[in-house]
Amino acid sequence: MSKKNPILKKNDKVIVLTGKDKGKIGAVLKIDTEKGRAIVEKLNIVKRHSKAGAKGAKGGIIEKESPMPFSKLMVICSKCAEPARLGKRILDDGSKVRTCKKCGESLA
Ligand SMILES: [Zn+2]
Repeated sequence: MSKKNPILKKNDKVIVLTGKDKGKIGAVLKIDTEKGRAIVEKLNIVKRHSKAGAKGAKGGIIEKESPMPFSKLMVICSKCAEPARLGKRILDDGSKVRTCKKCGESLA
């Protein structure tokens, strides 16, 4: 697994580029940097059937977000409100910030 810096972060607003949720927007709930995937709120929902448990738990259908590869997602810049390619800028103190390549604004 590659260990490159994740371009996505938790709470980012992202748009889905391909697949059944193409064009939909959601907030990133969880990032898996090892696998390069993100779970996005209410997107890429998969339905799972759960069996009734022995202790009286109800069986039924559970809807759950399934992780999506980073390549399917694009961050929406909070400044220009458009899907944006992100760049990196290294600050004087050595810390890295992500920047929107459209408007140049730095993202949290
Ligand atoms: Zn921007």
